[in-house]
Amino acid sequence: MRFLSGIQPSGNITLANYLGAVQNFVKLQDDPKFNDILIFIADLHAITVPQDKTVLRKNIKSLAALYLACGLDPNRVHIFIQSEVPAHTQLGWILQCTGYIGELERMTQYKDKKEKQIGGITVGLLTYPSLMAADILLYDADIVPTGKDQKQHLELTRDLAERFNTKYGDTFVIPEPYISKTGANIMSLIEPTKKMSKSDPNPKAYISLLDDLNVIRKKIKSAVTDSEGKIYFDEENKPGISNLLTILSCITNVSIKDLEEKYKDKNYQDFKNDVADAVVAKLEPIQKKYNEILNSPLVDEVLDNGRDYASYLANKKIAKVLNKMGLGRKK
Ligand code: ATP
Ligand code: MG
Repeated sequence: MRFLSGIQPSGNITLANYLGAVQNFVKLQDDPKFNDILIFIADLHAITVPQDKTVLRKNIKSLAALYLACGLDPNRVHIFIQSEVPAHTQLGWILQCTGYIGELERMTQYKDKKEKQIGGITVGLLTYPSLMAADILLYDADIVPTGKDQKQHLELTRDLAERFNTKYGDTFVIPEPYISKTGANIMSLIEPTKKMSKSDPNPKAYISLLDDLNVIRKKIKSAVTDSEGKIYFDEENKPGISNLLTILSCITNVSIKDLEEKYKDKNYQDFKNDVADAVVAKLEPIQKKYNEILNSPLVDEVLDNGRDYASYLANKKIAKVLNKMGLGRKK
């Protein structure tokens, strides 16, 4: 079986990206049922909103090094950069011509992100899910581990694949989402009813994996909570405290129920201190590893190998797709 997933280099990856996505990749890579694993850097997705070219380049390399620092094993996982495999764009176009505008306009992420655009909304922001479908279908991925926010895009991917298969005959594997029960929807630290996003203009909303450890402590200590003073899980009435409980639970592997018991007589300050300690303990070794490998030849070696392997698979698939659709000349 094959699993595949990607992250956009649209900022520094956050604790939410780690808990909702990367941590699962690291767990799943040890599952022997997966004999093929592809993890990519979705740079073409990042340009659906404005990017500074120098920062983008830096973020691409940084994400590659972070994947490794978080524990992805390059002997088990093929890591590559999306734009280095042109078949993604090719199939992305074909899937734009397979989906309908109405379907894309219904996507919650499009609706959310378009509100935040100042200088106009790119066409790519709307059609982004077609490219994401291409990323997945190009490799016949069986499983796609992501956070909850990508569930809708995965459903669209399945619809597009089924539509294509019906019209042209069996071509694509229909992928299954893999969304973990906890950690798949980490919230903003300052507006805990909104998801934590690395492209949030306010850096206090998120914890970046590369934030200075003292900054991380400060961000957690100033996370928005409520005035009740009691620690228990209630997403509706206590979204801030519930979010911190989720974060602590995901990091320590202690259930939320057990955490509620442990903190039932504690105040918010003590609780936040413990959350901060746990996050710092988790991120400190990741940052150390990151700094060791960022400028080593390992990162480029891994990306070269990943590109070559992904291109091999993707080119085979795109040739099949073109043939089925009557595009180009028969091969
Ligand atoms: P952007 O704001 O640029 O969209 P992002 O933080 O949403 O950035 P993505 O690159 O879009 O990050 O997504 C990378 C992975 O992280 C995806 O699997 C996504 O589902 C997951 N993810 C994103 N936000 C969260 C969140 N708040 N909680 C859990 N997982 C998340
Ligand atoms: Mg996102």
